[in-house]
Amino acid sequence: MTSLFGQPDPAAPPPRPGPGSRFASVVLHRGIEHTPAKSPAPPAARPSHRSAPPSSTSPGAPDAAFTYFIPAGMPEPLPGQLVRVPLGKANTPTSGIVLQVGDAALLGDLPPAKAKPILELTPARINPDLLALAQWLATYYVCPLGMVLQTMLPAAVKKQIGRKRILRYTPLPPSPTTAPAEAALTKPLRAALARLRALPESDFPAEPAALRRLAAISSPSVKRLHAAGLLTESADDTVSARAGAFGEEASTPPPDANAAPAPPAPRLTPTPDQARALASLVPALGSFSAHLLRGITGSGKTEVYLRLIEHLLAARPSATAIVLVPEIALTPQTSRRFLDRFGSGSVAVLHSGLTQAQRNAQWTACAKGQVRVVVGARSAVFAPVPTLGLVIVDEEHDSSYKQDQLPRYHARDVAVKRAHLANCPVLLGSATPSLESWANTRPHSPSTPRARYHLHELTTRAGNARLPEVRIVDLLDERRARAQQPGGWRDRHLHLLGPTLEKAIARTLADRGQVMLLLNRRGYANYISCPDPNCGWVMHCNHCDATVVYHKAAGVDRSGVPIPGGFVRCHHCLAELLLPTACPTCARRPNTFGLGTQRVEEELQRKFLPDFGITIGQTLLRLDADTMTTGADYFHALDRFAKGEVRILLGTQMIAKGLDFPNVALVGVINADTALSLPDFRAAERTFQLVCQVAGRAGRADRPGLVIVQTASPTAEPIVLAAAHDYTTFANNELACRAAVGLPPIGRMARIVCRDRDLDRATAHAADLAHALTEARDALPDPQSVRIRGPMPCPISRIDDHHRQAIELLSSSRGTLQGLLAGLRAQGLLLSDTHTAIDVDPIALL
Ligand SMILES: [Zn+2]
Ligand SMILES: [Zn+2]
Repeated sequence: MTSLFGQPDPAAPPPRPGPGSRFASVVLHRGIEHTPAKSPAPPAARPSHRSAPPSSTSPGAPDAAFTYFIPAGMPEPLPGQLVRVPLGKANTPTSGIVLQVGDAALLGDLPPAKAKPILELTPARINPDLLALAQWLATYYVCPLGMVLQTMLPAAVKKQIGRKRILRYTPLPPSPTTAPAEAALTKPLRAALARLRALPESDFPAEPAALRRLAAISSPSVKRLHAAGLLTESADDTVSARAGAFGEEASTPPPDANAAPAPPAPRLTPTPDQARALASLVPALGSFSAHLLRGITGSGKTEVYLRLIEHLLAARPSATAIVLVPEIALTPQTSRRFLDRFGSGSVAVLHSGLTQAQRNAQWTACAKGQVRVVVGARSAVFAPVPTLGLVIVDEEHDSSYKQDQLPRYHARDVAVKRAHLANCPVLLGSATPSLESWANTRPHSPSTPRARYHLHELTTRAGNARLPEVRIVDLLDERRARAQQPGGWRDRHLHLLGPTLEKAIARTLADRGQVMLLLNRRGYANYISCPDPNCGWVMHCNHCDATVVYHKAAGVDRSGVPIPGGFVRCHHCLAELLLPTACPTCARRPNTFGLGTQRVEEELQRKFLPDFGITIGQTLLRLDADTMTTGADYFHALDRFAKGEVRILLGTQMIAKGLDFPNVALVGVINADTALSLPDFRAAERTFQLVCQVAGRAGRADRPGLVIVQTASPTAEPIVLAAAHDYTTFANNELACRAAVGLPPIGRMARIVCRDRDLDRATAHAADLAHALTEARDALPDPQSVRIRGPMPCPISRIDDHHRQAIELLSSSRGTLQGLLAGLRAQGLLLSDTHTAIDVDPIALL
């Protein structure tokens, strides 16, 4: 006998399907990320007919669903429900998601007697539109469905952390059907049942504790009466998370937890731009349409989001909005505004600082429709809200929306699909939209003359603020100017700050203004080499085909032990070594070359300590992945900058993300060329975005800002146009360039990387795949429509001792590319496994 949601009685014989049994096809959560050869023993059940391919020889094949029967007494599961099922000869309990429920036809040609039972139902369920979304993701991103479902359901939900089940009981009235069971009861149990029946109906269903109090019945007696079929049982699941599911503690990064709530920001009258955007966005609520809001930095995009959500909630009180932000820890100011506007009781902020129980509580509250607004990073696109009314993707160009492991999805594109399935609008916002989104606002071709996305623009800054003046300085000129200064020729220091930037910093500090400096490279130096040109030794990682980065120790390591002289780290495999004291071939003392935030930090202190008291860690803070290890570090740093304790904030792209500090009068870009030289067709786009975004941090209030961009390529288009704040020209020129060579977003791209410890195996695997792809391509009606490049070594041809070979596919048609990949996958020739990474719409090509 299986109680509701309960475990089967271990002593009972294994249940078998009967004539009227019902069946469910279930996608399993394990054994799918490996190649079929490595997957566990095949289960007795066979892949259902819905799955592709229905091959019993490859249980690890993508999307394999297995059919189980629903034992008598177990309620019928719903599609999307998380269940436990037996797997393999050992019947290992394994979790899976129900895809479909039906009769014996689901079994195909498997004899019903061989089907195994579902062991347990859990209350966690993926709702139907998310199930459809998962199936789309699995197909589009060539990823096993089980893996996608796994991603959608956080581990805390699967394990039901923090869940409490409350069981309640109701006695059955006396009747001919209950008579035999009653007759078999012992005398005390019969008396107990009589006492229960004497209680008023309003007391039921009642918990065992209440029954003990009201009718002096012990818990074992309750269980026995229930086992005899004389009490009905109902279960209620609640998830409690200490500190409150939506309290301040759970919703905001830790340092803010005890702060008094900020007074609500005064409601500003929308700017004419904002009013115009809202006037065209509000009528779009209620059905699917896609919108791009391009608003220059400081133009008030967030206010448009807030007001649009207000309209949604007023019109449809049951609807929920999902707001995606690049990284919660990096966008505390944005999250704060949503909490202030809608109240912490109706906003769920999903961030990495949540405990497991809080995460489960948040998820459950979303699933129960108790939340009006969900704010979160990438994975919040899967928030299980039942009635989705609006999806917003803020800073939609941000690369953190792309997941770089399975499933390799792009949350912006998934957001558009999710809105489509939920039939609600999606709004993408950015000052520097990705070319993918920008291209969607243009008519595509004579056959698709209408743009896919509606474009809304905010072209003026809110509150009369002006865009900052951007000055490009040529690093070569700066070097000359430095040399001509008194004593210049004898100056042995390495200067990453040229005289122009240096003077501007001094002037800003003298005026009590604050400074932000960007250098998108961590560490002290990224090039360690022998000073003897005849030797030519350059330090490489032992495990990667890459140079290593020298980090000057910040004093002590994690265990408090001082590290003399610093260490060398590979930024690809994270291996660490000591800085060699001598060249391994000629024994000279190595040089450390190149840029890094640590080196700038040192230079700033050297130059500005005497006059302005600029001190590392005090008035000068460095924000990069080395100093900011938790969201709390970041929060503290920004808090100190906001209070004015910190005068100079130096950092990587972290400081370019949507921060708003009114006293920032100067922004400096130490070297705009770091991204420009990467072997990636998006190098120009990244450079433009980075320079534009960081420039936008200057001059936010009534104070006009100045931006100084140091570069060795002062005439490079992305830099010149970013300095002119001219997104449209940049985007249209860049689109034309990409179109000319068929690159994304005009052409569609998929990239396959074969990796193996053995170079020959990696090469052979890639060659086999390229051969299969070429054959499949040549069989297409129009073979010219797909270009195959490779196999070729990746730009970083070895990472962590794995050799890497890439194949790139380009097509003018997304459908053709999908069909090609799906066909090979169905034949089992192309699987996402430990040796093969398939990346559809890749954003990094290293
Ligand atoms: Zn390495
Ligand atoms: Zn040497």
